[in-house]
Amino acid sequence: MTPTIAALSAVEVDYPRRGRALGPVDLDLKAGEIVALVGPSGCGKSTALRLLAGLEQPTRGSVTRAAGKGETAVVFQAPTLAPWLTAQANVALPLVLAGERRAIALANAAHALAKVGLDDALTARPAQLSGGMAMRVSLARALVTRPRLLLLDEPFAALDEITRRALADDVLTLAAELSPAMIFVTHNVEEAVYMAGRVVVMTPGPGRIAGEVVVDGPLIRPAGFRTAESFRQAVETVSGLLAQAGARAA
Ligand code: ADP
Repeated sequence: MTPTIAALSAVEVDYPRRGRALGPVDLDLKAGEIVALVGPSGCGKSTALRLLAGLEQPTRGSVTRAAGKGETAVVFQAPTLAPWLTAQANVALPLVLAGERRAIALANAAHALAKVGLDDALTARPAQLSGGMAMRVSLARALVTRPRLLLLDEPFAALDEITRRALADDVLTLAAELSPAMIFVTHNVEEAVYMAGRVVVMTPGPGRIAGEVVVDGPLIRPAGFRTAESFRQAVETVSGLLAQAGARAA
């Protein structure tokens, strides 16, 4: 049986004064699985991700997660790079912080940057990078520790459509190679269906699971996948679940 890498069990999050923000929610992520979490703004997607990253504790319920240093990596919408460090030093940082020798950390960082197509930008500082390049550096930094769990919080939201699509394919190629379990948070239905083998749909806040849709097809998407019947159908089903959940909440 494929082992569970991360799970939320009957998880609820309440914030003081604001009340319930999430749940109750159950979510199970198997090794190597890619799940997209989709739902309207404010439904608790980021909260769910912070729980899985260990950055926050649930008010009730329990969270299972890949423990251990470097086993969980998070990529946020803003690339959050250290502006005074080169791209290579930024990517090396998680390894240096984990106690790796500097020379080895830098060599691994160069390798990770080459994988995201940035072998010629090792010495660039974040201010010199385009939005897409900065996100690639951020991805390389997340993958350099070879995490078992990769959490992505709307990583392409600030990028233009062409860059988004190129990065989507890059992430899927890297995921196929390194096979971390992955949770991809987005409010974009087509992006969710493109990026995941399973799309989990959330209700408006406080978010619960409204349903889930399995997406058929290889996870390195073939050319023209967005026009395939199976893709269109999955998009329609996810959109239908979102609309239903929204109508019920209204
Ligand atoms: P999403 O990622 O789906 O947009 P979030 O997880 O960011 O949703 O937020 C869910 C709800 O919890 C929202 O109503 C938000 O305002 C509230 N919230 C999130 N973080 C905090 C916090 N630290 N303190 C109080 N309320 C919060």
